[in-house]
Amino acid sequence: MNRRALDELKQQIPLLDYLQAHDWRPARRVRDERLMGLCPLHTDHKPSFLVDPHKNLFYCYGCGRGGDVIRFAELYHQVKFPEAVALLREWCGQAPLLDQVIDFYRIQLFRHHDAVSYLYDRGLHRPDVIEHMRIGYAPGRCLRAWLTDLGFPTAVLRQAGLVNAAGKDAFVQRIVFPLEGNLYGRSIQGSAPHLFLPGSKGGLYGWERVRRCPEVILVEGLFDYAVLWQAGFHHVTCSMGSHLNARQFQQLCDGRRTVYLAFDSDHNQGGQLAAQWMSRRLWAQGVSARRVHLPDGQDPNSFFVGGGDAHQFQRLLEAARP
Ligand SMILES: [Zn+2]
Repeated sequence: MNRRALDELKQQIPLLDYLQAHDWRPARRVRDERLMGLCPLHTDHKPSFLVDPHKNLFYCYGCGRGGDVIRFAELYHQVKFPEAVALLREWCGQAPLLDQVIDFYRIQLFRHHDAVSYLYDRGLHRPDVIEHMRIGYAPGRCLRAWLTDLGFPTAVLRQAGLVNAAGKDAFVQRIVFPLEGNLYGRSIQGSAPHLFLPGSKGGLYGWERVRRCPEVILVEGLFDYAVLWQAGFHHVTCSMGSHLNARQFQQLCDGRRTVYLAFDSDHNQGGQLAAQWMSRRLWAQGVSARRVHLPDGQDPNSFFVGGGDAHQFQRLLEAARP
């Protein structure tokens, strides 16, 4: 394998994504947007593992080891260089698998009336938003057979989290949203509503489309995103939860912009507290943040489902304060 192919492989796999996919969680942020956490390579009791997500490098002050994503794979899986490269390539290879899964689920959506009517109830009325977000539906009990026919070994499906230990489809009766390198499934039954595939939830939703906008609306949920997009607010992005991962936070800070935080205005104030905290962190990085105040107990989705319109939401944006 030549140097260029190795560089390409490394570019395809951000070190932080790979670490997070292997359950590494940063304990704190240090200077220059670097992250510190427990070392996955030795028994570590206080965080000594430093990651630089920009340079794609790590270093452990405990065991003294460091390097790039290939070096990490060598040490973590205790394999030699060529095997580490092979493992990383296999990890990358999940992308074509996910594309097949997304296509399959998109076809299923229009075969299942209950899924379409669920979307309707959540305020998604227009085909263009379903097309734009590539929304699909996982009925359950049929994906595995389809992918097996296409030649994907069960072990690969299990490793990707698409099939559970019992060999059954992991996503059952769920609306499915494709993310970058992952899937988000929302149960239409309400029980255990959220499901991601193992690994990182990725960066901000649809970030490439909005990163050059001078103003960006950030929401917590994909159904919030959908109704806003449908109402003509195309400068919207979503963190898929009120907690942003390191990469998502970095994205918000990578340029000059105003960020409108349209988090849930829930009764226990979780969303508002998260927005307050996020606003302070953004201002500390030189990003102007404004908190959108929704009526009590509402999120952007319920605001539109309950009859709110684009003009009313626009007024909320104008009234937003730091
Ligand atoms: Zn270490």
